[in-house]
Amino acid sequence: MTELLKEREAGFPAKAGIQSNIATGPRPAPGCTEIRCNWTRPEIASLFDRPFLDLVFDAQQVHRDHHPRKQVQLSTLLSIKTGGCPEDCGYCSQSAFAETGLKAEKLMDVGAVLASAAEAKASGSGRFCMGAAWRNPKDRDMDSLCEMVAGVKAMGLETCMTLGMLTQAQADRLSAAGLDYYNHNLDTSPEHYGAIITTRTYQDRLDTLSHVRASGMAVCCGGIVGMGESREDRVGFLHALATLPTHPESVPINALVPVKGTVLGDMLADTPLARIDEIEFVRTVAVARILMPLAMVRLSAGRESMSEACQALCFLAGANSIFTGDRLLTTGNAGACADAALFAKLGLEAMTSEEPARVAAE
Ligand code: SF4
Repeated sequence: MTELLKEREAGFPAKAGIQSNIATGPRPAPGCTEIRCNWTRPEIASLFDRPFLDLVFDAQQVHRDHHPRKQVQLSTLLSIKTGGCPEDCGYCSQSAFAETGLKAEKLMDVGAVLASAAEAKASGSGRFCMGAAWRNPKDRDMDSLCEMVAGVKAMGLETCMTLGMLTQAQADRLSAAGLDYYNHNLDTSPEHYGAIITTRTYQDRLDTLSHVRASGMAVCCGGIVGMGESREDRVGFLHALATLPTHPESVPINALVPVKGTVLGDMLADTPLARIDEIEFVRTVAVARILMPLAMVRLSAGRESMSEACQALCFLAGANSIFTGDRLLTTGNAGACADAALFAKLGLEAMTSEEPARVAAE
């Protein structure tokens, strides 16, 4: 038995190595685990077009080559500053443009954030994510944010924040305080983006991602499907992620939760056809897994309305991270009890640590 097979049998990943930013030589066949950042849209479209069972089978093989096959990473998300955001993201109930009745709150007190982090740790989370509804953090908030990061880190949790756009100086401060991950999503394809958000550009997002990368933090970047986009847009969305100079370490794939009062919620809530088809959602997860073999692919918003069978298919397709707890930022989530029951049914277990959590800036 080869070392790789022994490792797979034992449930541990093969050595993933450091991904190369420059892929050269002949392109591998679909399902090949070579790390590439030069995927083309036609290649990605042909992955989406594959027979479903072949696609999921290949995605699972890629998954087993790089990750423990039974382990799922658990993260907890806390809204540290809710509502009143000046951005106009059409899916978001926290936007000041949405009529959801959500009350804008101030940045939470550091002590209250740390108390929530302690609860998350006690319930088995390995990573604590803190989200603020801002266009970008103000410099006056940076001291409190850094205190939160240092406090959560001192509990032995991985730290993640999502605060909107960052300058290089802000990214450097957060990184120095111990922030492991920064989340900033591309949301959708460059072509569909303008139909969803008008107050910041795709390039603004890419600039923030590059500041995060340059600061040495790991990148968490994904998006939302089911926002009225086409298959071509899903191809374009994953192409944008998989051709970043370095793949994101975490890739959250959300299914739109249509919230009444938001632009997209009002447009799509009563049109079931506009909801993402579950098989198409699983395909999106499988393609993400094949394109970005080392990433943690996270099932995020929308999971609470998925059947257990659909979630199981997502895990088979290579998803290996979820948010736990009853709530995400402002929408419902599956809940820890439901997750524990599902894990027991599927023979999955919580991941105890993830390597590498931080990526050296180059
Ligand atoms: S998604 Fe983020 S940036 Fe967009 S409106 Fe909501 S809180 Fe603001």
